[in-house]
Amino acid sequence: MASKTKNYRKGKLLYEGKAKKLYSIPGHPGLLWQEFKDDATAFDALKRGTILNKGKINNQMTAYIFTFLAKAGVKNHFVELLSENEMIIKHLKIIMIEVVVRNIAAGSLLKKTNFKEGKVLQKPIVEFYYKEDALHDPLINDSHALAMKLATQKELDYLRRMAEKINSMLIPFFRKRGLKLVDFKLEFGRDKKGNLMLADEISPDTCRLWDAKTNEKMDKDRFRFDLGKVEETYAEVINRVIK
Ligand code: C5P
Repeated sequence: MASKTKNYRKGKLLYEGKAKKLYSIPGHPGLLWQEFKDDATAFDALKRGTILNKGKINNQMTAYIFTFLAKAGVKNHFVELLSENEMIIKHLKIIMIEVVVRNIAAGSLLKKTNFKEGKVLQKPIVEFYYKEDALHDPLINDSHALAMKLATQKELDYLRRMAEKINSMLIPFFRKRGLKLVDFKLEFGRDKKGNLMLADEISPDTCRLWDAKTNEKMDKDRFRFDLGKVEETYAEVINRVIK
């Protein structure tokens, strides 16, 4: 498929993850062709399924939010949309740390604290997890990250600072759309020159979003816990996000 600005060609499949595929682009070593899939996994991939249209929704929501963040000065890997479920991104080396930000207690925080689901946190919590399936993505601190040479202290400080900044922009973004941003996960990567920037996706797969009036869960928890109306909810979220 031709892009708006250049005739990109889909090259070799370089990587296939749980939710996305990455292809090279002949003649453009600094870019990648990213395809979002409808495949869904949860609980360390013990639960697998398909969410119809998820690939299109996550692609379009990520493009919209990454464009919004870029305008506010948050450097990220998004270059341009190619099709409903494909985009061009910058070719980065992903830092093997998942950065989670929490505003309201939910999910795995309920196993680490005595907080009940729904407790509004006084201050956002930022956590680092080692992105390593074989170890089930354990919670780590700066010392672990430094010992494993996952990042430098300066980079860890940047990840924390950017996560807080992105959170402070996304809370009102979602509030205007009738959604509470409960928590979310970010990934970052370095380009050839070592410039750090936001990568991956921001979607109902990677955020917990609750309806602002009813607290109804409007994210992947509907798939994780068989709450029903999974496809309808993803469609409702993208309709609210891109108004
Ligand atoms: O499971 P937990 O409560 O730690 O997840 C926190 C947030 O990070 C949730 O929004 C979840 O969707 C997201 N997450 C993710 N990918 C992971 C782990 C968590 O998108 N591997």
